[in-house]
Amino acid sequence: MSYRAIPLSCYCGERPDRILEVGLTSEQTMVIHYWCAACSRVLFVTKGLDECVQHCPTRDEADTPPQVVADDARFLQSMGIATPE
Ligand SMILES: [Zn+2]
Repeated sequence: MSYRAIPLSCYCGERPDRILEVGLTSEQTMVIHYWCAACSRVLFVTKGLDECVQHCPTRDEADTPPQVVADDARFLQSMGIATPE
């Protein structure tokens, strides 16, 4: 299993260095509660579970490291077979 990180940032542009809590709401959304040390601000991000599913890597992406994909594409191109980018 692999995962894709959810990008988090503050209004000031800094990335938070600490996630305080991850939770679920009665409206079926996920909440990420984090802290920006740069400007001492508490931030919340909510994501619908549908939205979470859309941002999940596909099974192919999850199972195949990027280098393997690049090597496969190079091999196929050397045999004259075009691969989608
Ligand atoms: Zn900040």
